[in-house]
Amino acid sequence: MKKPDEYIKMGAKIPKGILLYGKPGTGKTLIAKAIAGEAGVPFISMSGSEFIEMFAGLGASRVRKLFEKAKKMAPCIVFIDEIDAIGSRRTSNSGAESENNQTLNQLLVEMDGFETSETIIVLAATNRPEMLDKALLRPGRFDRQITIPAPDLNGRVEILKLHSKDKKLAEDVNLKEIAGDTAGFTGAELSNVLNEAAILATKERHDAIQNIDIENAVRKITVGLEKHNRVVSDKDKKLTAYHEAGHAVVSRYLSTQNDVKEVSIIPRGLAGGYTMYRTNEDKFYVSRTELLEKMVALMGGRAAEKLVLNEISTGASNDLEVATGIARDMLTIYGMSDSLGPVSLKVDEAYELQLFGEEVVNEVGNQIRLLIENAYVTAQKLLSEHRDILDNVANTLLEKEKITSEEFEKFFN
Ligand code: ZN
Repeated sequence: MKKPDEYIKMGAKIPKGILLYGKPGTGKTLIAKAIAGEAGVPFISMSGSEFIEMFAGLGASRVRKLFEKAKKMAPCIVFIDEIDAIGSRRTSNSGAESENNQTLNQLLVEMDGFETSETIIVLAATNRPEMLDKALLRPGRFDRQITIPAPDLNGRVEILKLHSKDKKLAEDVNLKEIAGDTAGFTGAELSNVLNEAAILATKERHDAIQNIDIENAVRKITVGLEKHNRVVSDKDKKLTAYHEAGHAVVSRYLSTQNDVKEVSIIPRGLAGGYTMYRTNEDKFYVSRTELLEKMVALMGGRAAEKLVLNEISTGASNDLEVATGIARDMLTIYGMSDSLGPVSLKVDEAYELQLFGEEVVNEVGNQIRLLIENAYVTAQKLLSEHRDILDNVANTLLEKEKITSEEFEKFFN
C-alpha cells in the first residue's frame, strides 16, 4: 500500500482479500489496525454480525454501502470481523439463510468488482475458517490466509510487559516465569491475568501486585478459585488425595511428561483437587510416545482410586474425556494406529465415515478402547510398583492439602 506502483510495474496484482484466523483474543483486530497504521491509510471496520438484519435485503445493501465508502476513501483497509456470520457455507434457500446468502453474494460481487488499482485491501477475521463458504477463498477474493496463533514464550513475556505498564508491580514479580506457566494463553487472556492479579492484590491489601497474586490469578483462570469453606468429608478427601497423587506419581515415571508444579486437594472451581504441571517450551510437534504417556498420566487418577480404595468414582470423568479425545485424534487425525495404518479419517460429516466401510468404523471404536485400556493398565502397574511413594504423597496431601514441586521431588530421593 506504500508503494503500489512498484508492484504494478512488475506486473504483480495486489491482493484484495486477506483472511486472518486464530482463536478469540489472539489480536486479529489489533493486527488489522496495525497494518492500516503502518501503511498510513484509513481503517474502515465492521463486524459480520452487523450485516445480519431482520429485514430482508438490508444486509446486502450494507455491504454495498461499505464498499462505496471504501472506494471514496481508497487507498484504505476494510476490516470485516467475524466474517463467519455472513460467510458461512450457503445452504438451503429458506428464511434467515437466504438473507444470509444474499449478503454473502453481495460481498462476493463487491470483491470481484473493484480494480486492484483502487488499492482497497479487505481484511477479514474468523476463528472458524472451516465454516466459511469455499467461494470466499477463491483467487481474487480472500486468497491469502494468515494464521494468528497464540503467542510463544517471548511473545507472552512482551505482552505481559505491555499490560503491566500501568500496574503497580512488586519487586518479586517475575514475568518470564509467569510467561512460562501460561503456554497457550492468548493476548486477551494474559491481559485478563494481570487484571485479576490487581484485583486479588487489592483484596489481599498488598502494597503492589506480588508474584503470588499473578500465580493465583493464573490458577483462578485455569482451574477456578480455591474454595476453603466447602465442607469435604474425610472419605472424599482421601479419594481426592489418592486420585491426585496417582496423576502426579505416574507422570513422574513417564519421561515425556512435564514436571509436577503443584498438587492440591483444596477444591477449586468444579474440581475437588488438581495436579498442575510445569509447561516446557512450546512445542510444535508431539510424538506418539508423548501422547500415549499423556494418556497414562490421565488414567493415573482412576488407577490410584481402584488400587487403594478398590472403588472408582465420578471424579475421573474429565480425565476420561481428555484421554478418549487423545485416542480418537491419534487414530482419526494423526494416523498413528498400527491396525488402521497412516490414514486420516477426518471428515466434515459423519456419513462420510461410511465411505471407509463399516469395518474401519468399528475398528476405530475398538482401537480407542484398546489404547485407553493399555494406558490404564500401565498406570496401575506403575502405581503398584511405587505404592510406598503413592501412599506417602497421598498422606502428605491429607495433612498439608498442597504440595509444591520441591516437596514432591523429595519423595523420589
Ligand atoms: Zn484426575
